[in-house]
Amino acid sequence: MDNLSNISVIKDILIRHGFTFSKKLGQNFLINPTVCPRIAEMGNAKSGFGILEIGPGIGVLTNELAKRASKVVAVEIDERLMPILDETLAEHKNVKIINADVMDLDLHKLIAEEFSGLDVAVCANLPYYITSPIIMKLLKDRLPIKSITAMVQKEAGVRLCAPLGTRDAGAVTVAVDYFSKASILFDVSRGSFMPSPNVDSCVVRFDIDENGVKANDEEFFFKVVRGMFSQRRKTLVNCVSGSLGLDKQRVLSAIEKTELSPTVRPEQLTMPKMIAFADNLMAVIQK
Ligand code: SAM
Repeated sequence: MDNLSNISVIKDILIRHGFTFSKKLGQNFLINPTVCPRIAEMGNAKSGFGILEIGPGIGVLTNELAKRASKVVAVEIDERLMPILDETLAEHKNVKIINADVMDLDLHKLIAEEFSGLDVAVCANLPYYITSPIIMKLLKDRLPIKSITAMVQKEAGVRLCAPLGTRDAGAVTVAVDYFSKASILFDVSRGSFMPSPNVDSCVVRFDIDENGVKANDEEFFFKVVRGMFSQRRKTLVNCVSGSLGLDKQRVLSAIEKTELSPTVRPEQLTMPKMIAFADNLMAVIQK
């Protein structure tokens, strides 16, 4: 169905199916016809690509993805949307809808089964209540994907894409930066959605970086990062010794090995220094 972002078409579908929006599931559907084609174009929806979509809603973005990509698999948690998606996507033979919570799925298995022989990218207008956990799952699971292109709350987008060393950067920014190159593509006003949320949004893209420097033990690295950003005003030594329950002298010894000042603050560390610090701390602990 091509005029899916037309508000009277959407209202007609929703009324016919007796659908009411669930705030709990972050259901704000796109009604601005210019946005979905842009997400699809900028999100690698093209021949030779399989697209994993999270939260298709009534299928407005799915429709644009299906027109361009070789295959689309869309994961939607809300069972009530199944008959609607059957109707709105009926003309596309390259779309499969899975009724599930994306957080419960084995995405490695899904990609292997559904996208054999294709490059893979993720596209989504994400439910805001679960934006960071979904992005972290997609990145930390090291899925064989080229990019993630997602609509997120403006504030979350700024945090996710902040350059390290700036005020907006936090533990989640470090994780994003560790696995990908992140950028904000464009802003989307609150009036582009139904119902209209009380915040603006933006579309971000993460291009997966397979060649960056990696920590010796990733689980430990992210534990250290969470500790580093738990009380970011403190010095690195106080933050990390406090949050990880480690002896200060040991943490100082790792700081020294990393050629950092003993009074350095967590947000002053570059990515290579963070990785080196976590590796050195691990070595000190294991001694
Ligand atoms: N893509 C549609 C659009 O742009 O109009 C809908 C986007 S709406 C912001 C988010 C969608 O994600 C909703 O359809 C919601 O039911 C679905 N959703 C929420 N939590 C989910 C989860 N854990 N797994 C899969 N889908 C989820």
